[in-house]
Amino acid sequence: MINLILLGLPGAGKGTASERIVDKYHIAHISTGDMFREAMANETPVGLEAKSYIDKGNLVPDEVTAKLVEERLQQPDTEKGFILDGFPRTTVQAELLEGITKRLNKPLTNVIAIDVDEDVLIKRLSARYMCKNCGATYNKISNPTKVEGTCDRCGGHEFYQREDDKPEVVKNRLEVNEKMNTPLRDFYEKKGILATVDGEQKPEEVFAAIDKILSKD
Ligand code: ADP
Ligand code: ADP
Ligand code: ZN
Repeated sequence: MINLILLGLPGAGKGTASERIVDKYHIAHISTGDMFREAMANETPVGLEAKSYIDKGNLVPDEVTAKLVEERLQQPDTEKGFILDGFPRTTVQAELLEGITKRLNKPLTNVIAIDVDEDVLIKRLSARYMCKNCGATYNKISNPTKVEGTCDRCGGHEFYQREDDKPEVVKNRLEVNEKMNTPLRDFYEKKGILATVDGEQKPEEVFAAIDKILSKD
């Protein structure tokens, strides 16, 4: 059983690593960012509330986000395990998650932080693009599709850049997330559950480092 949190600043490679982890372990990928984007696209109440925060690169309130995660973790596909990608992002969320995992009897097995320097993150985020059809993540410089204009995962041909990856928003997003990053890591460090990997290696090397940690237990 793998019940994993992936920690890392925006652009660290959480989504990219998650795709590979899911391919190997077939566990549920829970990305709060993806869930908010879907909710915004469907104009649900949560989506409408989240939009004002996300557009500016700020965090959606802890309680709103935690409720979304608690609901998601009750779905049956999480029974074989899950990856939390982008949650928790604050120590308040980490504390709320403790309650959630206790209530649902789904204890965490691993917390892995992906480390990348800020100057690298800025470059990565401005070159990130996504498949419109399946949401797969690519990078114009470091991680393009194998065949130009065709998604490796689904064969789709349409791509887009996230609104919040535009330079004005990226700066604030990084600031907001950096403030929370150290206390969050300390939270899991103190519990003795935190492992770290160097996120500046190639995507397949980052995955190999994560996989080594996951296959230990
Ligand atoms: P996160 O989910 O942490 O925000 P992503 O997985 O979306 O990060 O990756 C951010 C950007 O960097 C994407 O464009 C992705 O293709 C690219 N990327 C991911 N991992 C690496 C890596 N190890 N080396 C270089 N670029 C990467
Ligand atoms: P990234 O891939 O760059 O790490 P995400 O796709 O995870 O970004 O998140 C996009 C946006 O969604 C965040 O900037 C934030 O506004 C909101 N969001 C995602 N996860 C959380 C969270 N755990 N708490 C608060 N807001 C969140
Ligand atoms: Zn695709």
